[in-house]
Amino acid sequence: MRIAKIRATPVTVPLEAPLRHANGCHWGRFVRTIVEVETDDGLVGLGEMGGGGEVATAAFKGLERYLIGHDPARLEEMRFLIANPTASLYNNRTQLLAALEFACLDIMGQAWGVPVSEILGGRLREKVPFATYLFFRYANARTGKGEVRTPEQLAACAKDLKAKHGFTSHKLKGGVFPPEYELECYRALAAALPGDRFRFDPNGVWSTEQAIWFGQQIEDLRNDYLEDPVYGLHGMRRVREKVRMPLSTNTVVVNFEQLAANVLDTAVDVILLDTTFWGGIRPCVKAAGICETFQLGVAVHSSGELGIQLASMLHMGAVVPNLSFAADAHYHHLVDDVIEGGLMKYEGGAIAVPKGPGLGVRLDREKLGKYHELFLKLGGYPYDQDPLRPGWTPLVPNERWADPDDARVPEIES
Ligand SMILES: [Mg+2]
Repeated sequence: MRIAKIRATPVTVPLEAPLRHANGCHWGRFVRTIVEVETDDGLVGLGEMGGGGEVATAAFKGLERYLIGHDPARLEEMRFLIANPTASLYNNRTQLLAALEFACLDIMGQAWGVPVSEILGGRLREKVPFATYLFFRYANARTGKGEVRTPEQLAACAKDLKAKHGFTSHKLKGGVFPPEYELECYRALAAALPGDRFRFDPNGVWSTEQAIWFGQQIEDLRNDYLEDPVYGLHGMRRVREKVRMPLSTNTVVVNFEQLAANVLDTAVDVILLDTTFWGGIRPCVKAAGICETFQLGVAVHSSGELGIQLASMLHMGAVVPNLSFAADAHYHHLVDDVIEGGLMKYEGGAIAVPKGPGLGVRLDREKLGKYHELFLKLGGYPYDQDPLRPGWTPLVPNERWADPDDARVPEIES
């Protein structure tokens, strides 16, 4: 079995409302590159990447010369072929490798008649629990709905998502407004859902002293962890000395070198594994093994997925014994998906691990065409810009916060 073709299709799928974060905004939509790897015997494996608002079509095209004729089962060979660690100083293809790894595992699963989780060691759970992923949101310009800016709106949004999907762990993405205001919001969220668990993530945008202050203000709550309060292992270590709750990261431990550094001089308690950032599902499983040995916590990071990437997260979550927290997913903010059957369903706050061969998801060609057309119409978007603050550049640590009283609605299409 050999790789015969690689197709990459950019798609744009609308979100309920624009999602605000410390560096800018998802402008009412996700832009993702859907990858199809076809073999000479007609199997098609699926991959996906994106997150930054732009497409990677040309980058996948450029890899055809490496991969046509390659055996999709030889994944370690593929790693060195396109993501050799020293060659990567010039051509960093980690995320491309990840999408291709999903596709090759999908092919292997189809060829062997087993789900990807069975190739990865076998599933330990049939469903993966998820947290609500709560964002401050602008209202949708078309519907006028979806704004999350005030503590009341945040609590209402969380209650609604809990009622709809059954979440019992709730994550608030902060770093948008002044920390004092976000503290008020986070405490309102906790007060609205007694007995549940909470986590806060300002995307590493605070100073160490701000982070220590915020962490100390929430010590009485039932926190899963405080995620990336500052940027950098040394800052995290300083926060960890003074705040009594686990710290987690998806920014400063995203490869094996950093994981080793964190084991030797611990700064972070919980590692959020991202099947894209780490270069595939298999490196995440490997990293989870190291975390198991050193008894670091493990959770699943979301880089803004459609159903293919979500399937990669589900198969990973199914086989990692030490998955100690609910996973993150932006998924419930989407209005549709490009896979057959539409959006996967949450039940009791969890999503079932697909049972079909390979990743267990197939493309809905009509939807793929529809959302490709939408991409052609709207193009990419600047993930690291705020539509209502043109020219704004956040610092690290930041002090250029958004104004919580600003209720304007950005006129953006989605
Ligand atoms: Mg994060």
